[in-house]
Amino acid sequence: MTPSPPATADRLAVAAALREIGLLLEVKGGNPYRARAYKRGASAVEALAADLTKLVAEDRLTQVPGIGAALAAQIAELHRTGRSSMLERLRAELPPGILDLVRVPNLSVERVAALHRALGIAELEARGQTLLLHEALQMGELLRAWVAASPHALRVDVAGEARRRTETVDQIQLAVAARDAEAVVDHFLALPQVAAVVERGDGRGHVRLAGGVHASVEAVAPSEHVPTLVRLTGSSAHYEKLQARAQAADLVLSERALMTRRGRRAAALADEAALYRRLGLQYVPPELREDEGEVEAAAAGTLPEDLLEESDVRGLVHCHTHYSDGKHSVEEMARGADELGMEYITITDHSPTAHYAGGLSEDRLKQQWEDIDRAQEKVKVRLLRGTESDILADGALDYPDRILEQLDVVVASIHNRYKMGEDEMTRRLVRAMRLPLFKIWGHALGRYVRTRPPIACRVEEVLDAAAASKAAIEISGEPRRLDMEPRWVRKARERGLRFVISTDAHSVRALQNFRYGVAMARRGWVRKGEVLNALGAEAFREAVRPVQ
Ligand SMILES: [Zn+2]
Ligand SMILES: [Zn+2]
Repeated sequence: MTPSPPATADRLAVAAALREIGLLLEVKGGNPYRARAYKRGASAVEALAADLTKLVAEDRLTQVPGIGAALAAQIAELHRTGRSSMLERLRAELPPGILDLVRVPNLSVERVAALHRALGIAELEARGQTLLLHEALQMGELLRAWVAASPHALRVDVAGEARRRTETVDQIQLAVAARDAEAVVDHFLALPQVAAVVERGDGRGHVRLAGGVHASVEAVAPSEHVPTLVRLTGSSAHYEKLQARAQAADLVLSERALMTRRGRRAAALADEAALYRRLGLQYVPPELREDEGEVEAAAAGTLPEDLLEESDVRGLVHCHTHYSDGKHSVEEMARGADELGMEYITITDHSPTAHYAGGLSEDRLKQQWEDIDRAQEKVKVRLLRGTESDILADGALDYPDRILEQLDVVVASIHNRYKMGEDEMTRRLVRAMRLPLFKIWGHALGRYVRTRPPIACRVEEVLDAAAASKAAIEISGEPRRLDMEPRWVRKARERGLRFVISTDAHSVRALQNFRYGVAMARRGWVRKGEVLNALGAEAFREAVRPVQ
């Protein structure tokens, strides 16, 4: 669904203004909750599915989660007049250029105003900010919709790292087939979020957005779109391999065209598959374009054509409720799964050792089973009882066998003692994998994409133990984890291990996380047949039943 131009423009402009108010309030000091409320409001407006004009007209803004009465008044003013008296007042109170300072990493907001006065720094070199995959996909879709609203744009694709689904994204790149390339660039530069234009020319525009994220667009004639999209999608190593293939076939893959040596267009390319075909290759999905053997496999015709897709996932695995540290009830989570059209959901709250996360005692666990039974009567989705059991320091699990036996699913994860040495950690995990009950190794290496390195262990040794025992590997869609990395996923595949794509959802909204898990699985070349939650409910239950 492409929003109509005025509605999108309006929504984004309002969000940009709210974000600026939030930042200026923060710089100014005072009540930090107030500043945060404006930033949250900006995100809410950006993500708004409903029609803003209608919400304002019907006075229903406060029904949107994250928008209270004060914010609603500001939004209504912005929407009706295109101005915000509050924003104008704040801008007048604070020195110009102050927001650029705020966006410099490691410079705390509280210090910015003082620093500005003391040193007289008007502008700092603009440094880009890196996005996590889920942020990049959201931002990419926002920008895509904005550019697609230009009457001069015929087709808009998000390219670059976001399209390859890398864990972090440095720049949102758009490839556009245009009726009038320069007009599309003009439209792009008019985006309300643009803080500075870094570069423009030859159908290209590169900007820094409010918040520090870099974004660029390359608009070309429709006949040039496919080669441009392939180049902008990258990776550069993959692209260079394609250029070498072209050369071997007496062709030239140039920036915007596939040419014969004589400088004539080699073929009309309806889509990327046609370009790959012309180079004698199977189509390579974007997630695989990393020069990790995919070009060679595509040339040999051995690239898997049944890679996992989002629509293959039939059940949501690894979900928390308010029994431990989740936000919603069993029933709310189940209804969320119903709405996503899922066939089953596993409720896996924390075990007792994770006391800081409200880990469940045996009594509480049994109460939850009753709750699950009650919820089951109200929903279509099949509820499965499970746990995310801590792997203790010695490799044992947290509940006794007589409890584990009564569960449908056991996710086994490490939540403490991350800093063990490699030997000890490897022993701990090998022991856990060898336990004689079926377990899913949860967020395997415990990393957080930006903030915590993986645990130290000999991964292949643990995978060997898992493959020889009863275990499957979780591929976490939790966007801060995205664990395990594709290179390890491929090592697990080599050993014939099976996978589950998990959400690690702590709220209804986060049930959507499975999509990022699918992206990570594809990057690890995982095929549909290797994924347990691509099975129906009964077959899945059979496959993961702890006591088999
Ligand atoms: Zn966990
Ligand atoms: Zn969890």
